[in-house]
Amino acid sequence: MAAKGLVQVYTGDGKGKTTCAIGLAIRLLGHGGRVAIVQFLKGWEGYGEVAFLEALPAVSLERTGRADFVRPRGPQPEDYAEAERGLRLAERRITSGEYDLVILDEINVALSYGLISTRTVLDMLKGRPAHVEVVLTGRNAPDPLLDAADLVTEMVNRRHPFERGIKAREGIEF
Ligand code: ATP
Ligand code: MG
Repeated sequence: MAAKGLVQVYTGDGKGKTTCAIGLAIRLLGHGGRVAIVQFLKGWEGYGEVAFLEALPAVSLERTGRADFVRPRGPQPEDYAEAERGLRLAERRITSGEYDLVILDEINVALSYGLISTRTVLDMLKGRPAHVEVVLTGRNAPDPLLDAADLVTEMVNRRHPFERGIKAREGIEF
């Protein structure tokens, strides 16, 4: 795989952050690489991509978080504990050096809610093995993370069917 891994952030309020990260995982898997995915705030188990990726031997996938939404103004103790658990899993997967790509899905949301410390995440990224590429997804990525990243893509919402009352569809939104 790549000799030097970089740090990528996919943020913004438009659709496509998680699916973009998964597209990258597929590209890398096609070259024989190994991928670790740690999901934050994703206790709900209905995502199609999770069911598919979990079955692949070259993929490690771990979900953390409650099944329900976090209340932005009042996260519950379990929200903090689950985000911490995710952070420890992320550290383990990154430092092992076994994975060419580590995707921290929705970690930006956990950071923006203050469930985990941005400083700790930045230190983790800094200390990673040189070949490990890390992708951090989710809305509202904090500025210090954007400053530290090698690549930042912001998905901008111009229109989304949800605004016309079209509910999340199986196979498309989840
Ligand atoms: P996807 O998982 O489809 O790549 P995403 O990761 O960019 O989207 P999130 O911000 O993680 O989206 O939002 C979680 C859920 O909300 C997903 O099911 C996603 O498809 C949907 N979604 C994304 N953007 C919007 C939007 N602007 N309005 C309504 N729903 C959205
Ligand atoms: Mg997402």
